[in-house]
Amino acid sequence: MRNSIFTFLLLLKMSFIWSQSNFTIIDKAVKFGMRTSDDRKVNAVIVHSTFNNSGGEKYDIELIIKQFSRYGVSAHYVIGRDGSIYGLVDEKNVAFHAGKSQLPNGQTNLNACTIGIELMTSFDEAPTDEQIHALTLLVNDIKKRYKIEFVLRHSDIAPDRKTDPWNMDWDGFLKGISN
Ligand SMILES: [Zn+2]
Repeated sequence: MRNSIFTFLLLLKMSFIWSQSNFTIIDKAVKFGMRTSDDRKVNAVIVHSTFNNSGGEKYDIELIIKQFSRYGVSAHYVIGRDGSIYGLVDEKNVAFHAGKSQLPNGQTNLNACTIGIELMTSFDEAPTDEQIHALTLLVNDIKKRYKIEFVLRHSDIAPDRKTDPWNMDWDGFLKGISN
């Protein structure tokens, strides 16, 4: 009896760990808006909003990527309305997502030391629960692999220029982020 309870608890714990890290990245690797690196030191995650405003479906990943290519920008990940996580740039490489910006510790040149994550949202729509769930899993996973000192909004690092991520319950999201 004691053994079976122990086994049950062990399985419960295993399934908990499994569900915490069980998500897939849909490969959408790009060659623009990025540069390769072998030695960058990542210490921050920056969350953004994006949508296609060039005609057509505003939350279409292909149209968003096309728009990125026109501007010569990218991000490491884009998260769709349904919580799908698209991988555009390998984490070891630099993605051009931050622009002129600064961390609270004074650090600049932030593309070099950050991982950029774009949520598909627009000016009048909040992120979906599925997006926040996927973002939480992704950021907690990144935190296992890098010593992340800051999880910030684009508007935190470039307050004069940027207002994204839009319509997001930021404090609610941060409660799901592990220390
Ligand atoms: Zn942004």
